[in-house]
Amino acid sequence: MTLRALLLVPVSLALGSCCTDPIDGSSYFCLGDMSLTEEVELGTSYAPIIDAQYDGVYADPQADQYLGGLIEEMASHSVYAGQLDWKFSILNTSIPNAFAVPGGYVYITRGLLAAMETEGQFISVMGHELGHVEHRHSHRAMGRQAIGGVLVGVLGATENAVFETDTGILSTVGEAGAGLVMLSYDRGQESQSDARGIYFAAEMGYDPMEAVKTFEYFQKLEDQAGGGNSIEWLRTHPLNSTRIADIEEQIRAMYPELVDRPKSSFRPYASGNTQFQTVVARFKAVQPVYDRYDQAYSSLTQAMEQDDASAIKSAIQTIEGCANDLPSEPLFPAASGMGYLALEQRGKAKTALARSIQLDDQYMPSRKLWKPRFFLGALLNEQGDHAGAKTALVDSTEAFPYHPAPFYELGLAYEGLGRKSEATAAFQKVIEVENDPNGTYTQKAKTRLGS
Ligand SMILES: [Zn+2]
Repeated sequence: MTLRALLLVPVSLALGSCCTDPIDGSSYFCLGDMSLTEEVELGTSYAPIIDAQYDGVYADPQADQYLGGLIEEMASHSVYAGQLDWKFSILNTSIPNAFAVPGGYVYITRGLLAAMETEGQFISVMGHELGHVEHRHSHRAMGRQAIGGVLVGVLGATENAVFETDTGILSTVGEAGAGLVMLSYDRGQESQSDARGIYFAAEMGYDPMEAVKTFEYFQKLEDQAGGGNSIEWLRTHPLNSTRIADIEEQIRAMYPELVDRPKSSFRPYASGNTQFQTVVARFKAVQPVYDRYDQAYSSLTQAMEQDDASAIKSAIQTIEGCANDLPSEPLFPAASGMGYLALEQRGKAKTALARSIQLDDQYMPSRKLWKPRFFLGALLNEQGDHAGAKTALVDSTEAFPYHPAPFYELGLAYEGLGRKSEATAAFQKVIEVENDPNGTYTQKAKTRLGS
């Protein structure tokens, strides 16, 4: 399904109707109601875009298991208990953020975990995000416009990346989904979600005041960072003294009996649980390597834009240093492979990209990084290894089916293999995905199709 087709989903629904809030049962006007099944379908189509935007999943099975277990426990307290299968992931980016999308996809980033102190903070942040999904804020009031707006934002970003440049493999890809637009909610909705964060924390035995401490702590980090490494979550969740006071007031109203209870009687203080601290300590320990990588990656893309070979080399050197420190991280060889491609050092590029794919396949092979596979596929096509190219490109298009470039390269691979009908199908897919009669890839695909 293309993004354009996704946009049409809610259009087929009623133009104006009455929706019900599953938490408080209140009714509100909405432009189009969606069933839970439709929400899951939407979330499932949206998930690859989030993976592409946030560099896929971070490979820490113990963290996934422990934190995923906490999310499961939260799910049992949710209004959707037994109806919705929440799917938790840690995204492999330093950008500190957490969010949930309709259909029960729940995300926290590596960067936000590295900035956390207590399990109660995790629960109140994730509870807040679950709250947005439970309250159906994303399609409330604005209905399809809100949801459509997100997808249009993504589509727009993909179009920029594709349509503005066509000077080679590298420039065509850009940052797919870089303009991913997160919904912003109004203050009333934020307050409703804060209440859910408090609810989950209290129901699960944590001190609900953790919600207040979370905001205060994030604000402190933000002040220390001086705007440099700013907490994305705070940008979508503006903090001020009024909001903190509101949260405290909500706690006193919702759980008066918990306000003066001794701290030591709350989970995890009571149980002496150190598992969360162990998980977070691992994230904190690797963060300096990712800080170096983030900086080098940004220098690399800038140097590639400016065609500055010595700056590209120096960025590759830093990134390879990071790969020495964390040899199982697939993003590092993916980036150095991209740098070698820019330097036209094809042998080194191929080795690095193949290494990235091999590492990526070791963890959650169902959620692959699409970029190294696209770069490798294009390189192998150029070298006449169409069988190798096909394998990489099939995986790339499956991982991220919203960009025409990998489909175009896949068409070339099938052509090279003499598989004409599959080549035709791939070129037709290019036209469908780009969805612009004058698009660069569409023109190229039409030439291949002979039409
Ligand atoms: Zn929020």
